[in-house]
Amino acid sequence: MMKPSIPPRYHSPQIAVDVRLNTNESPWPPPQGFSERLATEMSRIQWNRYPDREAVALREALAARHGIDVSNVFCSNGSNESIQLLLAAYGGPGRSATVFSPTYALHSHLCRLSGTAVEEHWRGDDFALTANIVKSAASADKADVIFLSMPNNPTGTMDDPSVVDAALSGRSLVVVDEAYGEFGSLPSLASRASAENLAVVRTFSKAWAMAGLRLGYTVAGSSVVSEMFERALPYHLDVVKQAAGHAALAFEDEMQDRVAKIRRERERVLAALRELAVTAWDSAANFVLFRPATIDAVSVWNGLVERSVLVRDLSGQEGLVDCLRVTIGAPAENDRFLGALAEVLASGGER
Ligand SMILES: *Cc1c(COP(=O)(O)O)cnc(C)c1O
Repeated sequence: MMKPSIPPRYHSPQIAVDVRLNTNESPWPPPQGFSERLATEMSRIQWNRYPDREAVALREALAARHGIDVSNVFCSNGSNESIQLLLAAYGGPGRSATVFSPTYALHSHLCRLSGTAVEEHWRGDDFALTANIVKSAASADKADVIFLSMPNNPTGTMDDPSVVDAALSGRSLVVVDEAYGEFGSLPSLASRASAENLAVVRTFSKAWAMAGLRLGYTVAGSSVVSEMFERALPYHLDVVKQAAGHAALAFEDEMQDRVAKIRRERERVLAALRELAVTAWDSAANFVLFRPATIDAVSVWNGLVERSVLVRDLSGQEGLVDCLRVTIGAPAENDRFLGALAEVLASGGER
């Protein structure tokens, strides 16, 4: 095997390795039945026509899934586009957003791109967020938007639902990012999202195993959904994406099976990390945050890449000194990761 060259460590690079556990993708694709169903739908597509501008069929299927009205659903090119549109409507110059770090860096990145000021607060012990932290941040900032990530990336923490009520008590739009919601044990907040100041953002990139499709959606009050439609480009959701999202929803059982397998593997990986005397935080997502006690994170990351295993080095992010994040993969991939990590730790970081 050729050794991959090692690029700078500040982003999660797409480099050629055997075991890719750095971007929280599903290790398995959607089932064969999905591909066949989509192929049938593709054969009926009228390629010369613009897509349904309001993506009604897909939005109706999602609304049925969450037991809400179609007017409460907006579909987007990845959940990231949903967040961008929410900021276009509720953020912007002269407005501000509150985030609780360490968290998903893209939230504050999209704030900056939209000219929204970022008010950063810190999570408590072991990255837990409490209603008190949220309440005092909300009353201090009086921000236009409050971001919550439940479960939180990159810590894996699932916050108590009381933090949502604390955030909703003000006049801010509360954006709850549920990208990993399926991997936890609490129900989605989507059923509550017709409340006028709550927007729940979800994605097909993780549990649905379709990161390549770039499909996400927001569940929110109908006035929030209207604001998003007003700011989206015309026909922003192409016909293939609408068909693929719709077809995927027919394979919910297979999705739940994948999620159950990942959850079992997550607990196995957590236990194995602790066996290696590595600090690892409980996770409600498809990844685990860990901190090797004896070697710095960059050496660990390099040592793993040398062994063709790619994880995410987060040690450059404030509050995450010497932390790395590993995506839970298929059992054989997790074994490769654990074996490589044991070697790196035993070698004391030498290569
Ligand atoms: C992976 C991830 C997403 C997904 O973004 P997409 O644009 O839907 O792929 C959203 N939020 C968080 C916190 C994530 O980690």
